[in-house]
Amino acid sequence: MKKFIDFVRSVFKTEEFIPLHEPRFWGNEKKYVADCIDSTFVSSVGKYVDKIEQMVAEYTGAKYAVATVNGSAALHIALLLAGVEYDDEVITQPLTFIATANAINYCNAKPVFVDVDIDTMGLSPTKLKDFLEEFVEIKDDGFSYNKKTGKRLKACVPMHTFGHPVKIDEIIELCNKYNIAVVEDAAESPGSKYKNKHTGIFGKLGILSFNGNKTITTGGGGMIITDDENLAKLAKHITTTGKKPHKWEYVHDIKAYNYRMPNLNAALGCAQIEQLDDFILDKRKLFEIYNQFFKNSDIQLFKEPEHAFSNYWLQAVILENRNERDKFLEFTNSKGVMTRPIWQLLNKSEMYKNAHCTDLTNSQWLEDRVVNIPSSVIKDL
Ligand SMILES: *Cc1c(COP(=O)(O)O)cnc(C)c1O
Repeated sequence: MKKFIDFVRSVFKTEEFIPLHEPRFWGNEKKYVADCIDSTFVSSVGKYVDKIEQMVAEYTGAKYAVATVNGSAALHIALLLAGVEYDDEVITQPLTFIATANAINYCNAKPVFVDVDIDTMGLSPTKLKDFLEEFVEIKDDGFSYNKKTGKRLKACVPMHTFGHPVKIDEIIELCNKYNIAVVEDAAESPGSKYKNKHTGIFGKLGILSFNGNKTITTGGGGMIITDDENLAKLAKHITTTGKKPHKWEYVHDIKAYNYRMPNLNAALGCAQIEQLDDFILDKRKLFEIYNQFFKNSDIQLFKEPEHAFSNYWLQAVILENRNERDKFLEFTNSKGVMTRPIWQLLNKSEMYKNAHCTDLTNSQWLEDRVVNIPSSVIKDL
């Protein structure tokens, strides 16, 4: 473990504290933000908000992109647009950041936790199939219902953990059979592709996050992406207070939100997207460097799954067991090298402890072993 500390310090070329992930502002950030201030358009109207939407649509290959204040808000609206209503159920994985389940909760719906695969750390199509076959019936209204709880299953939210794509095509095929809408939580996977297609554009809707700790940042921000023109229009309408277009009248026609990304944040983000491909190249190089180091150790480095091109947002190692994991966390953090365990399974949190869960063997296995290690982009690696 001492060797690991020395190694990380040599890679990051510092004797100071090494954080898990810091943003890099090496491009046009200052220029665009200053331009934004000079224009006086610092809030939710302005050219950079439109520009970042265009850039994200172009980059991901989505037909439409709608900018939001953060990824959580994007997921909230995406679920509403997928038709999630009060008392519905939404399938997701227990091994994800709390925001995934919170967005379901904001819709007054309930999460159902289905296990993940070890090789992707994301929703398992095999476990999903088992769940659907055992518990779900399609009723005369065309919708799927959970036989155990009696509730309607309206949507499914797979999440691309640390930027590693899930087996999204298999998940979509299953959900189509059961008339369950797929909303991809691609918060962690801008730049990641599955079978050469960007994550987030497989489902009915997808969302991205540009929080400060993500691969690229707008400070705080998110994006809804979709190929459906009507959903995109509605997304824009609902995230901008539902105001009907008029020269001066304030007429609002729907329960709506003030969720639009401010221009200042969008300006920062435009400069970040320009560098996204370079960041990902560096992150993939960092993986190779860590991989050399861990080759001859009992610690396993997580590698991108089959058919995937990962952005490697956060590098992850798999320790032997929970005890080894705790020792590793204790030692590295005491030496000023920041490491963090993967999330506690969401079904263990107070809000979601009564949720319907499938067998969660793989999720529990990963919770006991996975730790993130310093993953920031390094200049001239
Ligand atoms: C970061 C994240 C979000 C939420 O994004 P914010 O912009 O922080 O609201 C949602 N889901 C996952 C899996 C995330 O990692």
